[in-house]
Amino acid sequence: MPVVKTPAIVLQAFPYSETSRILRYLTPEHGVVSVIAKGIRRTGARSGGLPDLFCEGVATIHLKPSRELQTLREFALTRTRLGLAADLVRFGGAVVLTELVLRHAGEQSHPELFRRLHHGLDRLESALPQALVATVLTEAWGIVSLLGYEPQLDCCVSCGAAFSGGEIGRFDYYAGGIRCSRCATDMSGPRIGPSARNHLRQLVEGEAPLALPRAPTHLQLLGDFVKYHISGGRALRSLDFLMARLRG
Ligand SMILES: [Zn+2]
Repeated sequence: MPVVKTPAIVLQAFPYSETSRILRYLTPEHGVVSVIAKGIRRTGARSGGLPDLFCEGVATIHLKPSRELQTLREFALTRTRLGLAADLVRFGGAVVLTELVLRHAGEQSHPELFRRLHHGLDRLESALPQALVATVLTEAWGIVSLLGYEPQLDCCVSCGAAFSGGEIGRFDYYAGGIRCSRCATDMSGPRIGPSARNHLRQLVEGEAPLALPRAPTHLQLLGDFVKYHISGGRALRSLDFLMARLRG
């Protein structure tokens, strides 16, 4: 049975029995890999190298391609990312990123996706509290774009016309971008004015604006976009959780 040694980020972790857990990893070369980790003691879990949510390390796995659940032999922890559990918004944001990856990724190799998630979780862990939601949005849009679904924001997704300064268009989920005011007359997507358009462009280009007006609306737009293009119509549960936390 081939044994592989691979960098791995824990996307999901749940108990299987008293001493074993099932974990889902993102790896650069093998995509998402589910493993069973046996013989785990509950005490001193963190310090004992137990793979926990969002942490990263080098996993040694008995990998048999035809099998759904692989066997974990060893996990050498390199990053705990304990800061992500510091508050619920930070935690919820990290789950948005991992859920997004889980909804899309299969077993195919995608080293860039691994790098993107690695940096995204790091940025989220160290983001200033006031930039937290914008950071979640930036990193999530970054993953969406990397998966091939970057929204079209520079010109009308229907007629191709450039937007004039104060123009109010509408977001067209089906086409994956914004329609100009002329093409948006008989549709019902969310209205996008110049400021929302600029903020959205900043987020997609990887800048997290410190002050992001209407953050919940941006989260809703991301969620609906993901539902349409990536998750097969299912909402990201973590986005609902995050929005509920923001409403307080
Ligand atoms: Zn148009």
